[in-house]
Amino acid sequence: MSKGPADVVREEVRALKAYHVSPAEGLVKLDAMENPYRLPPELAARMGERLARVAVNRYPDPAAPRLKQRLREAMSIDSALDMVLGNGSDEILQIISLALARPGAAVLAPEPSFVMYRLAAIAAGMRYVGVPLRADFTLDEEALLAAIARERPALTWIAYPNNPTGNLFPREAILRVIAASPGLVVVDEAYYAFSGGASLLAEVGRHPNLVLVRTVSKLGLAGLRLGLAIGTRDWLGEFEKLRMPYNVNSLSAAAAEMLLEHREVFERQTAAIVAERARLERSLDAIARVRRFPSAANFVLARVPDAPAAFEALKARGILVRNFHGTHALLAHCLRLTVGTPDENAQMLEALASHLA
Ligand code: PMP
Repeated sequence: MSKGPADVVREEVRALKAYHVSPAEGLVKLDAMENPYRLPPELAARMGERLARVAVNRYPDPAAPRLKQRLREAMSIDSALDMVLGNGSDEILQIISLALARPGAAVLAPEPSFVMYRLAAIAAGMRYVGVPLRADFTLDEEALLAAIARERPALTWIAYPNNPTGNLFPREAILRVIAASPGLVVVDEAYYAFSGGASLLAEVGRHPNLVLVRTVSKLGLAGLRLGLAIGTRDWLGEFEKLRMPYNVNSLSAAAAEMLLEHREVFERQTAAIVAERARLERSLDAIARVRRFPSAANFVLARVPDAPAAFEALKARGILVRNFHGTHALLAHCLRLTVGTPDENAQMLEALASHLA
């Protein structure tokens, strides 16, 4: 009698590959869309003092009213809208998928996009359908609307800006997708801080089937693991039932609460990243044999003649980027370059230019 995982673990789970995070010890880390700037030392010291006062013998307050209020202020979220907090927005994606996972329900997303949409769908037992973008990564609205009509998805994901392509799909097209969808459309604004104000936040509450997702990760707080869903009570009340009560730990909650009082720090850092992105784009354009795609996020997607070779050449020079070659047909020979500090970007550009020379 065998008792191994093959006997009991679901087929679709056994077919999955675990999400791979490359070891980055000692490398210039430009692979994960992190803000390259640390907290100013005096703010870090104040965070330490604040954390020392947290009663870690107690469970966190699951309602987290002060933290929610800070997020509301920091992200200008209307008081009529509700929020659900997650351990990163990753967890929010999981909660939403679980809530909508009726037997046979379909999940739709343009592809390539954030891989977690598919993983969360499969984990929840849903049927995942990817709808390819055009070759230049613009939205194929016709194909998406046709897929919505065909699949009648319970859930459609739109990353705005999109990861890993970096672009913004047209707002009007997204509104048409929302109008045509029989189910929920979730607009994932993980990169809103870099999008020059492009957002669908003002649309939430105006459509019966729109929920927004955001995160503090890309602002400079990836280590805290804090994300949120923003929407009307009818949807968020359902999601709240599936949120584990203590999913946001009290240290992260206290740190975020305190740090978001100083949002000018993060605004300064994100403005520096946006300015640096423009310089990075111009420098990439100046390297022959690199085709870079437009970005409204804190990373730039670039196609090179041989992405695996370029990835290894950069790594040999101590620079870690993300190689997407082999993950999706449309991403052939594409590297995703996170915007780092001016010095980090200069090192990366120098290494890439000399590899391609
Ligand atoms: N959404 C998108 C589009 C992302 O790219 C990411 C991170 N790569 C996330 C959500 C998840 O971010 P986090 O869990 O750190 O909030």
